[in-house]
Amino acid sequence: MQFSHQKQGLLIVLSGPSGAGKGTVCARLRNFMPELTYSVSATTRKPREGEQEGVNYFFKTREEFEEMIRNDELLEWAEYVGNYYGTPRRFVEERLAEGQDVLLEIEVQGAMQIKRRFPHGVFIFLVPPSLEELRRRIEGRGTETDEVVERRLDTAAKELGLIEHYDYVVVNDRVDAACDRIRSIIIAEHCRRERLMAIRE
Ligand code: 5GP
Repeated sequence: MQFSHQKQGLLIVLSGPSGAGKGTVCARLRNFMPELTYSVSATTRKPREGEQEGVNYFFKTREEFEEMIRNDELLEWAEYVGNYYGTPRRFVEERLAEGQDVLLEIEVQGAMQIKRRFPHGVFIFLVPPSLEELRRRIEGRGTETDEVVERRLDTAAKELGLIEHYDYVVVNDRVDAACDRIRSIIIAEHCRRERLMAIRE
């Protein structure tokens, strides 16, 4: 009897409140785990300084985004603090079929849509070490108006309430440690009994 890993890649969803440090952790993961495929989302949010089209996001107008929804081009989408965000479907489905692991860094409403479609996905929730630290990080970013900061804090509190729908919680006390934990989760998930196929000689 031989055992082999499943051919289909793992779909990994990373969520967490604004200020948990998802962006920083994902940027570090790109170096730390180059074997992972990172899905680039579409959004109607304006680019922040230094953000590049096709690298950080595909920046769209509301009309373009709504067209993508109508054409069923998105695997999931959500409205978050006044803007649309969504995951282009084709790229993700093709990479998974090729056996690559794909990481989606998305907010909770989108993650719940993915969970319904991909119940075997791996759902990871990233949290800051404390709520005080969360506020400090959101305020310290300095790129948003007071109103947006308050809305993000309010949204963050609601997002924390959905933690129970996730398989794993990673505390982002240090970026390197958080990346280590995420990598360990992915390795362990590949070893799950139900993901290993037994092949008879
Ligand atoms: P930001 O504006 O800070 O880049 O992102 C705001 C929120 O949108 C973050 O929680 C981020 O994870 C989430 N987000 C980014 N891309 C997507 C996506 O494709 N779908 C969904 N549902 N959320 C996304």
